[in-house]
Amino acid sequence: MGRKYYCDYCDKRIQKDYNIIKQHNVGLPHLRAKAEYFQQFKDIEQILAEAKHKAPCRSLKDGSECTFGVLCRYRHYTPKQIWIMEQLVLQKLLIRQKQSERVRKYMRNVEVRTELFLRKRFDRLAEDKLPPSMSKVEDFKLS
Ligand SMILES: [Zn+2]
Ligand SMILES: [Zn+2]
Repeated sequence: MGRKYYCDYCDKRIQKDYNIIKQHNVGLPHLRAKAEYFQQFKDIEQILAEAKHKAPCRSLKDGSECTFGVLCRYRHYTPKQIWIMEQLVLQKLLIRQKQSERVRKYMRNVEVRTELFLRKRFDRLAEDKLPPSMSKVEDFKLS
């Protein structure tokens, strides 16, 4: 038999035989484990968008588990779960909006402060008697 092949997705050791591995890789438990693995990297927006246009899965109606798991072509989320996801997405959107607003405000403050700083500085420079070579600075005075 020799060494075994280890499947990361399934966390399982199988016989290191080309045909067995090939068969394993197209089997439902493996495909399901793989899909579940990638599901965790998806944004909630993406999960919601995918779930929204799916019809509810019939296997879940009688309380039993669906053998297809995340691979199922049908929706496994209840309307309440969908609603919760929608609220989360909305919250995320609002937070992002607030953050960009804060950045915009901050940038505006920086502009104002820079202008004030420059104005004060040039005013002071203008008040002092400048050497003729620097009298041009007065032309920069901000109105
Ligand atoms: Zn596997
Ligand atoms: Zn299903």
